[in-house]
Amino acid sequence: MRKTKHTGTFSPPFGGVGGGFSVAIDLGGTFIKIGLLQNGELIDRKEIPAQSASGLKAQLPALESEIDLFMLANQVENEAVLGIGFSFAGLVDSAVNRILSTNQKYDDGPDTDLVGWAREKWNWPLYAMNDARMALLGEWQHGAGQGCTELVAVTLGTGIGSAVLIGGELLIGKHFQAGNLGGHFVVNHKGTDCTCGNVGCVEAEASTWRLPSLLKEHPEFTESAIKGEDVLDFRALFHHAGNNDKVAKEVLEHCLSAWAAGIITMIHAFDPEMIILSGGIMKSSAVILPALQEKVNQLAWTPWGKVKLVEAKFPDSAALVGADYLVRKSLLK
Ligand SMILES: [Zn+2]
Repeated sequence: MRKTKHTGTFSPPFGGVGGGFSVAIDLGGTFIKIGLLQNGELIDRKEIPAQSASGLKAQLPALESEIDLFMLANQVENEAVLGIGFSFAGLVDSAVNRILSTNQKYDDGPDTDLVGWAREKWNWPLYAMNDARMALLGEWQHGAGQGCTELVAVTLGTGIGSAVLIGGELLIGKHFQAGNLGGHFVVNHKGTDCTCGNVGCVEAEASTWRLPSLLKEHPEFTESAIKGEDVLDFRALFHHAGNNDKVAKEVLEHCLSAWAAGIITMIHAFDPEMIILSGGIMKSSAVILPALQEKVNQLAWTPWGKVKLVEAKFPDSAALVGADYLVRKSLLK
């Protein structure tokens, strides 16, 4: 933690925004991450529990006091902050910085004036963006995607998120959803009902929310050692698959095939040179990465060569790093 007192006086190296700080907020379903950054460097961070079911507006007072305490602890004056970068797990209009659509989390998001909130409370500008896009910005500028202009970022977790960079520009689309719905690419048209209303989406076939039912639907589930686990999560799945448990191995293979099918479709759609993978499930990257790379090498139609699958450099903080880049870039416009 930094103990030097920071004031509004600094010598910006470029464009008048170089020396200031940014505050990053990454609004997850279970935790809210708050970061203080300067020129892409994460100076300090904290996590607070989220109550996503009670809505976004209900969360703002706690967020205000946490940010004020955070600024105080780091001895950063309000005037030294350039703005807030706000990551949200839903569709976001990043032209006017408003949430457009949610999926079972913070459902009052579209009715919440985040820009007005930040201006009234701190007089800071606020820039909002979908969390997968924000994480892609962080990995592109400072992480695994440095130097690339064609990237796809995929988050494997409770759900599956994605974002796309083409020609060094984020793919946005007319309604701000282009490249964001890779987790809802259909990989099994006769598959499982998804939370989005469709069937057989990648995340309805293989994700943290789908895994418990996937295991229980296996005809030999009751004979498998994984039945004794308190929580049917990917940690348990990888553990039992490693012990040669038949059910765990078959369910894992199903998941790897579903993810590979989704990733190959993203490759065919967006023509990237690299796929950056992150998310809670990637804690088992030693198993996942080589298995997915092999399937992609075998099955993707890329006559120019092989798309490289890599692990994120900031699996836990890419969206915070990306938020700092977004604030600086927006102020330079
Ligand atoms: Zn879906």
